[in-house]
Amino acid sequence: MSMNNQGRPSRPVHTYDAGAYEDTFSGSRGLDQAEPLIFERGHFDNTGVDLDEPKGTPTRLAGLDREGEIGFPGLSEPEAMRHYVRLSRKNYAIDLGLYPLGSCTMKHNPRLNEKMARLPGFGDIHPLQPQSTVQGAFELIGELAHWLMTLTGTPAVAMSPKAGAHGELCGMMAIRAALDARGEKHRRRVLVPESAHGTNPATAVQCGFTVDEIPANEGGRVDMEAFKAKLGDDVAGIMLTNPNTCGLFERDIKEIADLIHEAGGYFYCDGANFNAIVGRVRPGDLGIDAMHINLHKTFSTPHGGGGPGSGPTVFSEALAPYAPVPYVKQNGDSWTMIEHEGEAREDGTDPFGRMTAFHGNMGMFTRALSYMMSHGSDGLKQAAEDAVLNANYIQARLSHVMTQAFEGTCMHEALFDDRFLKDTGVSTLDFAKAMIDEGYHPMTMYFPLVVHGAMLIEPTETESRASLDRFCDTLEGLALAAKAGEKDRFMAAPVHAPAKRLDETRAARSPILRWTPPTDEQVAAE
Ligand SMILES: *Cc1c(COP(=O)(O)O)cnc(C)c1O
Repeated sequence: MSMNNQGRPSRPVHTYDAGAYEDTFSGSRGLDQAEPLIFERGHFDNTGVDLDEPKGTPTRLAGLDREGEIGFPGLSEPEAMRHYVRLSRKNYAIDLGLYPLGSCTMKHNPRLNEKMARLPGFGDIHPLQPQSTVQGAFELIGELAHWLMTLTGTPAVAMSPKAGAHGELCGMMAIRAALDARGEKHRRRVLVPESAHGTNPATAVQCGFTVDEIPANEGGRVDMEAFKAKLGDDVAGIMLTNPNTCGLFERDIKEIADLIHEAGGYFYCDGANFNAIVGRVRPGDLGIDAMHINLHKTFSTPHGGGGPGSGPTVFSEALAPYAPVPYVKQNGDSWTMIEHEGEAREDGTDPFGRMTAFHGNMGMFTRALSYMMSHGSDGLKQAAEDAVLNANYIQARLSHVMTQAFEGTCMHEALFDDRFLKDTGVSTLDFAKAMIDEGYHPMTMYFPLVVHGAMLIEPTETESRASLDRFCDTLEGLALAAKAGEKDRFMAAPVHAPAKRLDETRAARSPILRWTPPTDEQVAAE
């Protein structure tokens, strides 16, 4: 049996109950259809359309036309259809089941939002259209910007960043521009708590800052003494997440804001977890200077699978002048898009530049505004409260069989560590793989790094009590099975998935990204 360096099988194994029927003649298992790569299924001699060779059309390619075959796999329409439907059935999706991935807010995307985003006036426009023809779209961007500033209690927002990490970059570039404008280019040290999302230190380094890590205290929050000891006149600022990535509210946040400001630095807040506090707390009141908002988390626009994100970044009075172009501006009844830094300077601001070719992800703006409008201020607040309630429900139901990482109630996610698996021979990874056999996407594992064998579960507010109970019953069952010595169940898992244990390290380190046609010898050997 091939093993990876942790002694776990890197190939399918047939020891645990995979059953005698696993190897079928067709390669399919029940309704789970075997499906090769499209290059293996199709052939460039085949085609789904039947067009005659164009006659009498002189080429305009000046002799640069391709001479050989293009090599695209040809399929008939039904074959192409089945290929993608079969692949889609191997996928897990929020529309399929509970998706407990912590720090990701995988909540239901209301279909009303989809309908709004497809309205022709929003869906079928082009960023290069004359401004007079897209006034409604500008108004929508302006209105969404207004509500984002209102909900966060801030005076400015840059709408164009296209993801959370991109928003972080936007915020940190504004901080750098502000420091440079103050003539304080020596301030290049950024304080980042240990529990931070990996994008925080990565962003700081990308902007030319150095990262200085603040340890967490016993309660999973910023260690205030360590933080104070790190303040100094080379400090550019702090990047802090609240609620933090341990799913806990940073209680000393106002003191942190005051101290960083006194030290001459700025406060970047990672607002990816805004869904836990929206409608209850305005981060501007807590003293933040910049914060990105993941529309694709808090405001339910779809994400995952590389789908479009959107990370508008709000700014305090101090950083507002450095926000990037473009932005929309209202003059009476009409709207203009301020595209160039020169135009912005006429408005009295000093943008650090521009981050994207156009204006951001319009479809995400439409969905997010639709979500806000359909919820209203009371509904947004209730969504945040229900997200926290659901996470605490999971924590309360599972803490007798799993080990809660920190004492007390949590915010929107429940964090467990691997102490409950001690001496079982089962690791966090094995436990997560067993969840796949149960039909669940695993939770976030081994993050945050401050917790050993972390399992971070974020149910979101859109799961019903029945759905949470079913999930908790399953995890309870698995935890008891691990403790009862049923190690085999975990070692081989997942046995019911289309792909079994993978050599994930090799897949990450040396991925094969290009299909190469089989050689003549290989074909002959078949
Ligand atoms: C999701 C997340 C990010 C990054 O957001 P992307 O849109 O994936 O770039 C940053 N910080 C935290 C805490 C997050 O949860």
